[in-house]
Amino acid sequence: MNNLFGITKEGCLEVMKKLGEPSFRGNQLYQWLYEKKVTNFDACTNFSKALREKMKADYDIEHGAIIKIQSDPEDQTHKYLIRLQDGECIETVLMAYHHGYSLCVSSQVGCAMGCAFCASTRGGLVRNLTAGEILDQIYLVEDERQVRVSNVVIMGIGEPLANYRAVMDFIALANSGWGIGMRKITLSTCGLVPEIDRLAEEDLQINLAISLHSPFQSVREQIMPIAKRYDIQELLKSCKKYFTKTSRRLTFEYALIAGVNDRPEDVRELTRLFKGLPVHINLIALNPVTESHLKGSKNVNFFSDELKRNGINCTIRRKMGNNIDAACGQLRQQTKIH
Ligand code: SAH
Repeated sequence: MNNLFGITKEGCLEVMKKLGEPSFRGNQLYQWLYEKKVTNFDACTNFSKALREKMKADYDIEHGAIIKIQSDPEDQTHKYLIRLQDGECIETVLMAYHHGYSLCVSSQVGCAMGCAFCASTRGGLVRNLTAGEILDQIYLVEDERQVRVSNVVIMGIGEPLANYRAVMDFIALANSGWGIGMRKITLSTCGLVPEIDRLAEEDLQINLAISLHSPFQSVREQIMPIAKRYDIQELLKSCKKYFTKTSRRLTFEYALIAGVNDRPEDVRELTRLFKGLPVHINLIALNPVTESHLKGSKNVNFFSDELKRNGINCTIRRKMGNNIDAACGQLRQQTKIH
């Protein structure tokens, strides 16, 4: 059986062409799948009975399954473990803000990037997610909680720019099908320079977040292997190009690690790099990860105050889900071990 959930607009047109139907049926199929979110073909009431039967013979609409939910009673954060059709598991996290619900979605099963502080990369990359499997995270959580997700951050397990095509298809489906505004979608990357350049050419109005974690090449190399492939100068040049093309303010993610990137010289170098530029630094204390010697910084407030004093725009990311295994990848890892 061919699962239609996750096929693109072009895919919908092709399916209908194969079935000998006119192309407007493809547009109708797209609406049924993503705007009306039907779960079976009998719900597609503007399709003839004969067409519905033909579709049932070759296609279906399948979803993954939520197999575990961890909820933080203090801040309404819910973390979901989702089992995919092939038995692999991914995580997705729902966060409630005053402006609506935000969902942090995974883009791969595991991750090949090898950042020293990240639980998702332990065990390496298993496989890419399809566009449908990324979108399914929104479908499943909206269905389980009976809410509408208004913001999506592609910041869960995986490196989205290493799964470029599927992530672009996902963004198109989430935007034009599901109705999530481009400006409400954020893609976070550890810094794959050629793909950032390629993304700039797409000229989407999404938000781009770069995981920086240190303004120094030597330190970045130690904690983020990708920095050996693309150095910080190249990365920043590519970020500037992205800004010039899209006019979207850039965010730099910065997880404060004790003694590694929370020192006065880090404030000075960040100031030197970013002074006067339309950037925003998102500070967070490192989430502790088992089997890592890296410890969260106690200087988060000091660091934030110093940056602001130097005229650098920054916020401390509200830490959510403190009472659950919030650091991404930890729930999946645990489930694998037990
Ligand atoms: N691969 C992408 C997106 C997934 S990671 C990226 O690197 O941006 C999402 C964010 O969580 C990144 O900024 C990442 O560096 C950060 N992160 C990973 N492990 C963390 C931890 N233990 N504590 C705090 N932030 C962490």
